[in-house]
Amino acid sequence: MRLLIHGADVLPGTAGLKGGPADILVEGERIAAISAQRLPEEGASRVLDGSGLLAVPGLVNCHNHVAMTLLRGYGADLPLQRWLEERIWPAEARLTDEDVHAGALLGCLEMLRGGVTAFADMYDHMDAVLEAVLTTGIRASLSRGVIGLGPSWEGALREGEELCRQVARTGRGRVSAMLAPHAEYTCPTEVWDAAVALARELGVPIHTHLSETAAEQRGCHERHGSSPVRFLAERGVLEVGLLAAHGVHLEPEDLALLARPGVAVAHNPVSNAKLGSGVAPLVALLAAGVLVGLGSDGAASTDTLGLWEELRLAGWLQKTILQDAAAVAAPSLWSLATVGGARALHLPEGTGLLVPGAPADLVLLRQDGLHRAPILDPWSSLVYTTRDADVVVTVVAGRPVMEHGEFPGIDHERIAADVSARARRLLEDR
Ligand SMILES: [Zn+2]
Repeated sequence: MRLLIHGADVLPGTAGLKGGPADILVEGERIAAISAQRLPEEGASRVLDGSGLLAVPGLVNCHNHVAMTLLRGYGADLPLQRWLEERIWPAEARLTDEDVHAGALLGCLEMLRGGVTAFADMYDHMDAVLEAVLTTGIRASLSRGVIGLGPSWEGALREGEELCRQVARTGRGRVSAMLAPHAEYTCPTEVWDAAVALARELGVPIHTHLSETAAEQRGCHERHGSSPVRFLAERGVLEVGLLAAHGVHLEPEDLALLARPGVAVAHNPVSNAKLGSGVAPLVALLAAGVLVGLGSDGAASTDTLGLWEELRLAGWLQKTILQDAAAVAAPSLWSLATVGGARALHLPEGTGLLVPGAPADLVLLRQDGLHRAPILDPWSSLVYTTRDADVVVTVVAGRPVMEHGEFPGIDHERIAADVSARARRLLEDR
């Protein structure tokens, strides 16, 4: 496919790159040219009018359980452990492949609607999630979550291994995989050792939940005599590569341990706030040299899967707890949601920037919303005023996969109705 976007206002992605009105030519899956001169339409298989629209790189959601749209908002106002044990785990035990497929379809469409072009997922029934990813055209790094509290963990880990092999065969270069022991507090040492050995054999990183709550941190000291980060470091998890969701309750030594190549933290401020888990030390993580991306977490704890709220809240919370309006600037927040996330998920080189040669994962935003006028500072406006509904077009790997709220070949209203019906059946009389 050869896609030409005429006359969009281009914000290439970092404060150092020069933007402005330009034509964007996409050939295959990559950006071939960005030109201030009008490019000829000859040979283009698709031409989009970008006038009045802002072109920015697509957002990367670094931590999700996408099928949890089925449980959106379920168990609101419970703390993490009670929320998991009393509401989420019992409901999840009843999910079928078909439920997860429907929930994942809805979640992928919701993310594309809001300009998310790639995400990391951890869940069960991952064949069904993979199918939804391939159908909707979004990029993904998928992992089969392993809870090691019962005897079934070996089977779950084998499913994770099979997912890695399946994705390598069928992922079309858009899907990759990781292994996913769920968390320190749900996986005994033998599970970690088996997962690390398998990760080395397959050459894949590990995606887990890490230092999410104060209870987890305290409990890990009781169980293992160390922080969760040091426990994972001693099991070799940091060496095989790690995507660590949350990183809220960190000790000074943890920051240094996490600041190594191949390790990234997915910061999920909305989920951490809603579950009352605390505020991750984002500024300290960045100062220590830790790679950080932004994530939504699942819709049961975050309600919506777009990243605009995460961007804003990430900034607001740091300014609040540090009592410093300059704690983190808008372009830095934007980098977390784009290049930071892209590196955390090992996406192709250049992802997160609009430059020739980069993967064509991009978003066109309307600029005329009442909530955006006047646009005095493009970075501030982008980070602090944009909403999902401002996204007009989402392009992934050179293909428009969402235009004006519609998805080519996909009936999104039918999918939303199907998920609502399944969720009611799932939770009825409970
Ligand atoms: Zn999570």
